[in-house]
Amino acid sequence: MQYSEMSKEELLTLQAELNQQYAEAKAKGLNLDMSRGKPSATQLNVSLGLLDAINASSDLKAENGTDCRNYGVLDGIPEAKKLMADMMGTTPEHIIVYGNASLNIMYDQVSRAYTHGILGNTPWGRLDKVKFLCPVPGYDRHFAITEHFGIEMINIPMSESGPDMDMVEQYVNNDETVKGIWCVPKYSNPQGFTYSDETVKRFANLKPAAKDFRIFWDNAYVIHHLYDDKQDEILDIISECEKAGNPDMVFEFASTSKVSFPGSGIAALASSEANLADIKKSLTIQTIGYDKLNQLRHVRYFKDINGLKEHMRKHAEQMRPKFEAVLEVLNTELGGLGIGSWYAPRGGYFISFDAMEGCAKEIVAKCKEAGVKLTNAGATFPYGKDPKDSNIRIAPSFPTPEEMAQAADLFVLCVKLVSVEKLLA
Ligand code: PLP
Repeated sequence: MQYSEMSKEELLTLQAELNQQYAEAKAKGLNLDMSRGKPSATQLNVSLGLLDAINASSDLKAENGTDCRNYGVLDGIPEAKKLMADMMGTTPEHIIVYGNASLNIMYDQVSRAYTHGILGNTPWGRLDKVKFLCPVPGYDRHFAITEHFGIEMINIPMSESGPDMDMVEQYVNNDETVKGIWCVPKYSNPQGFTYSDETVKRFANLKPAAKDFRIFWDNAYVIHHLYDDKQDEILDIISECEKAGNPDMVFEFASTSKVSFPGSGIAALASSEANLADIKKSLTIQTIGYDKLNQLRHVRYFKDINGLKEHMRKHAEQMRPKFEAVLEVLNTELGGLGIGSWYAPRGGYFISFDAMEGCAKEIVAKCKEAGVKLTNAGATFPYGKDPKDSNIRIAPSFPTPEEMAQAADLFVLCVKLVSVEKLLA
């Protein structure tokens, strides 16, 4: 029965039962962390072979003869460019391979636009107003970058096919203070949605009022499938933008953080020839070159895109049971109650849960009180403010499947309890 159809007496009886269950759950003394999307230690073992991929006896030259032990090569060794290009669904001439992670590339792109401007345009820091569109819910660290630079962030609602493109077109094509948009186009963080072909084409065909408007296309989960037989596909934004006559409109990012080791992977940016040349003018001041030995060992270990795909299957084997444990509990315990909605993603790192309006903060607080740490409510929105106080990001990767099931049991209990309280209020 839907909670909203219950009488006050029924709700009060239910509340008493749930309070009793909550007291029992608290007594179990759980101590679980589902706050950040990081792999478990067992999952990290999947990549240990990477550490043996090169050693003191290895030939440490890249395929073009570059000695990877020494200085040189600003934009990555050729085989690493090829590996990252294949992963991102583009070609090596669009790629710069950077260091250990992609978030600092994104920061750098915003920072350079701010201080030096993009392709000769006025640096954003000299403008009165700079705005970014932020599909919500989204990734808190994206929003942290734009907030750090004082950029005004505008929420754009997401649906299963991607951001609300009518709204995106309206802003981008008419407002020249709109300089960018944050996108996680495949297995989005946190909803696990993948942009449809139509959405990608509408992005590529934007007619920005600002010449230096850029799509920040963070393809962090491009190969992070959970299933062999149910995989999302996404169009290549770079070639779509070329076809649409907008070759310079996109900066695409990816890394092997959740392929090899978070914080010790390799990361890349993909963009047009003009953008890459513009970027390299600064990059050459910033560094002599990134860690080529790490690039080399990634290529030696994974070999090619097929090696990467095979490797991701091993990750999926560990991730799938955890996702399924959560979804199973959500379906059995909350299905039909009308107090929350969620989506079963086919990849990525998260499950996004939407509680009844005004309940998310309290649910997260109740979970914490009973020993389960979730991402702060609101974190999935710019400025940490979810206007409906409804969205909660669940990150199933770190706990074991058993712990995950326990945590999910507590989570649904807290959802029920807080919803009843809300309905009684
Ligand atoms: N982008 C998204 C959407 C993420 O969810 C994450 C990590 O959670 C990152 C980027 C971080 O990537 P990196 O480790 O390459 O900085």
